[in-house]
Amino acid sequence: TVFSTGGGSGFVGRELTHLLKRKGHEVTIISRQPGPGKITWSELKSDGLPPCEATVNLAGENLMNPLRWWNENYKKDLFSSRIDTTTTLAQAIVASPNPPQTWVLVTGVACYRPSLTDRYSEDSEWTPFDLLSKLVHEWEGVGRLPEIVAQNTRQIIIRPGVVLGRDGGAMKQMLTPFWLGFGGILGSGRQPFPWIHVSDLASIITHTIENSSNNLSSAVPQVFNGVAPAMNTNYEFTKELGRVLRRPTVFPVPGFVIDAVMGSERAVVLTQGQMVEPKRTLESGFQYKYPDLSSALKEIVER
Ligand code: NDP
Repeated sequence: TVFSTGGGSGFVGRELTHLLKRKGHEVTIISRQPGPGKITWSELKSDGLPPCEATVNLAGENLMNPLRWWNENYKKDLFSSRIDTTTTLAQAIVASPNPPQTWVLVTGVACYRPSLTDRYSEDSEWTPFDLLSKLVHEWEGVGRLPEIVAQNTRQIIIRPGVVLGRDGGAMKQMLTPFWLGFGGILGSGRQPFPWIHVSDLASIITHTIENSSNNLSSAVPQVFNGVAPAMNTNYEFTKELGRVLRRPTVFPVPGFVIDAVMGSERAVVLTQGQMVEPKRTLESGFQYKYPDLSSALKEIVER
């Protein structure tokens, strides 16, 4: 099978590309930079989608870039890097004489309103309520294929929680302070912390593609929550990471400090959280390699 992946060079994209190649698939990465095995976004626009059975979009400016100050320019890049790449891919699928059988868009759980008590599954109704939920709304909207095209191309949306892995994402920034013994809960620590191991997220993406023959194409995308089934809080995450690293985690970081340093609009992903259930993911028969924090964090720390 041939795959094309926007953002295939990133943290999740690299994991997905390795997994696909191990399974004997071919992968073309769509990137801002040319290179072997890659095409650029402008080549995609001018030459169309290369023949492929599945297309995945993982492109997007990093939300937690520690080197960028939270301002209007950064917010513009967060939106345009996701909206423009997704629009380009959806249009390329529409224009393709041989469209792929599956189109997977990876977005996020920010569409669900943070709460200490509400539980969300893929069936939960939601409307945008803040910056990040507006982003998810617009992003999933531009990814939507016209009905006539959706008859031949199955549309899938995967909404991951915080992706945990050694080589990128949140862990890359958290491991050093925790290792030095400066780790601690964020805010009250009671907020849910939806997470997934990067290897399981890559497997969910391939699982939904490989099982596409079981599902009829539909005008509405099928949503899968990309989270581990364990449903932990920030307190549980903090204590487990400390335990695995054998380090104390006695330095709580007050919510207002995180808001001030990061900007409250994006700090919500750390100071607040959603209890997200991977209902459809489990129903689809997906088997997690890292269903609980202990196994996921051990793999990341001991590797
Ligand atoms: P990365 O930060 O690793 O970025 C992925 C790729 O996006 C990069 O390799 C880059 O590809 C491309 N990219 C970055 N900035 C821009 C830009 N300004 N314009 C166009 N393309 C850009 O992302 P992850 O792998 O961590 O995440 C993949 C997707 O999953 C993202 O959309 C993210 O929002 C979503 N997600 C991630 C979570 C996480 O915890 N990591 C949590 C929930 C959702 P290139 O340089 O080749 O152009």
